[in-house]
This record gives sequence, structure tokens and C-alpha cells, in this order.
Amino acid sequence: MKRTRILVVGGFILYGLGAVESIGAPPRCNQLFKVFHHRVEARPGSVPFLELGKLIFSFASEPKIDLLNSAARSGNQCQRTFFFPMMEVANSECKEMLYSIARTTISPYKISFDIINKPVQGLRFTVTYDHEKVGMTYAVMESAGEHKRLIITFYDKDQIKKIKNAQESVLRTAYQVRKPGIIVDCGHGGSDCGASGYYNLSEKEVNLEVGMYVANLLRKKGFDVFLTRSADVAIALDERTVMTDHNKAAAILISIHSNAAPNIYASGIETFFFDISHHCSGADKQSRLLKAVLYDRCSKSQLLAQNIHQSVLAYARHKQPEVIDRKVKQSFLQVLVGSAVPSTLVELGFLTNKQEAALIKDKHYKMLLAAGICEGIIRYFEQC
Ligand SMILES: [Zn+2]
Repeated sequence: MKRTRILVVGGFILYGLGAVESIGAPPRCNQLFKVFHHRVEARPGSVPFLELGKLIFSFASEPKIDLLNSAARSGNQCQRTFFFPMMEVANSECKEMLYSIARTTISPYKISFDIINKPVQGLRFTVTYDHEKVGMTYAVMESAGEHKRLIITFYDKDQIKKIKNAQESVLRTAYQVRKPGIIVDCGHGGSDCGASGYYNLSEKEVNLEVGMYVANLLRKKGFDVFLTRSADVAIALDERTVMTDHNKAAAILISIHSNAAPNIYASGIETFFFDISHHCSGADKQSRLLKAVLYDRCSKSQLLAQNIHQSVLAYARHKQPEVIDRKVKQSFLQVLVGSAVPSTLVELGFLTNKQEAALIKDKHYKMLLAAGICEGIIRYFEQC
């Protein structure tokens, strides 16, 4: 089988994707498990975002990728077609994700999918966009122990030009706004209950209650707050990161969760951020600019995670002096990978640990954790 190697897209050099040889063995299909479309819908007059959107595919193993036609152009419109040979859609939920992405009408680019049966089984994916305005990069993300992810990022070429023409100091402040807005994401909801544990605690309820306290505290401090949910409803992970008019000044995203483990003795607080540095390559000028922005966001995410983590721990210790510090860690959690702003996810404690669950059951402890999150956010804005 021919080796496939796609390195340059829209002037960006990314990962080479080596096709896996399968000599002698019967061909086995790779599987697509999930596709998320993290849209950025900044309206005129709102804060400009570098990204216009991200498509994140989760495959069982590293995908083979064939670029069928190279940028067929009519006027400024350009079309790119990718073919994933020997690929099947794993289940009906994933099929519905594909259909729903194709139904989304988003002005800067259009996406369509076809499930192909002959002559080679596979999945065809076509994207149409104005190449004067839209750039595209893609990379396979190595995430040990998880599915292989392909991330396709659409970005605003005007923003790249502005950054290119700007001084380093402008680059650093490109995404700062005078009155920062904050997305508070209460994890899970509706049919997705998240973890459960002692005292009939349900993660979706704990997350919502803490998130509501956080939103109240932040609003009292004058921040614009957008809650991804304020009731017991299911929200897709890519819907949680959508930038719309409601949160046009969003500067950060904080996702609130509670933990569970088979080991009932596991306890403590841990906080995650997504470290882009292992998943970004490229040496040309535009790649370096894009990377600089992504690294800047990544270091802000880390700073946000550290501030929230330290502050939540300090507040928790008022009631639980022995609370375990499970540290700040890097993670591939979907909501963090998909976010277009600095973001962090905090796990407030284990519902499966009887002692910690007893604390989390208590309203005052949840209010303490919320105060810790709020203070961490304020400290973050003081530092960046
Ligand atoms: Zn969770």
C-alpha cells in the first residue's frame, strides 16, 4: 500500500501521517468513535478569535489519510477532500454527530461527510472555504491509552496578519479584554449523570450547585458570567465551548467536576489544563506565529489551573485540613482541547470516598469550594 504523507496544509507544516503497512494480514477497519465540532461564532464587534472552529475526530488507531484533490479552486472558494480508507463509523451516535456537523451552517467554512462502501470502504470528508479568509491546519494527537485524535483547526487569516504586523507586546495582549467574561461549565447534566457515590450524591448535581455559587460570586465582583447550563440538561461537549453573542467577551473557561474511583480510599482535589506544546510542530513563519499564540494560551491555562488549584485547596482546608493535593496535571479532556480561550477543569473531590462525600454533601463546603474557585480566578487576572 502506498505510503501517505501529508505535511503542508495552508502553509502550515504539521505532523506527517505514515500509513500503516498491512502485508499478509487481512485488512482490518479502523473505527471512528466520535467527532466534535468546536465552533467559534464571534459576531461583528465582539472579541476576535484566532480560531474559527475545530473538528476533533477520535479514532481507534492512527488513521490513514489520503488527500484526494489539492485545493480545487473557483474564485476564492477552495475545497479540500480527505479520505480515510478502511474506516468505519463505530456506532449510530457517531453517525448522528457527523450528520449534525454537516447540518451546521457556519459562514467561514462548510463541511460534508460521505460514508463510502466501494471500491474501498472509508469515510470521505470535504471542507469548502474562502482561502483568502480561512486557513486550516491539522495534526494527529498522541494520547497514550486513549483513541488517536485528529484535530483540524480553522483559523482567521486576518487575525494571523494582525499578529504578524504587531509587536510582541500586542501578541501577548491580543486576547485580553477590559472586562473579562468567564464561561462557567458545570460538568455533565441530563441523562449524563457523571460520577455517583456515597449519600446518593450525583456528580451533575454537585457540579451545577458549585457552578451556580461560583457564577453568583463572580457576578458580585463585576464579571460577565456565562453558565453552559443552569439546569439539569444534557449539553454536548462541543456546545460548551461555543463562543456566541452571549459570551462575546469570554476570556477564560472553567469546567467544574467531581471525581470517582474504584478505590474507595482515593480522595483529594486535582486540576487539569491542556498542554499544546507536545502537539504542535512546524517551522515556517506562519506556523511560528500560530504556535506563539497557542503557547501563550497554554501558559495562561496553566497559570489559571495553578491559581484555582491552590486557592480551592486553601479554602477546602478550612474544613478538611488533611485534604490531599493531587496536583495540577496536563490532560486531553475534550472541553480543554476544544476551547478557544485559556481553560481549566477542576475535580473538586471524590464522591466515592465516604469522608470526602460527607463534606461535599454539605452546602457550606460546596460554598467554600466555590469561593476558592472565585478567588483563584481573581488572582489569575491579577497576574496576567
Ligand atoms: Zn465529570
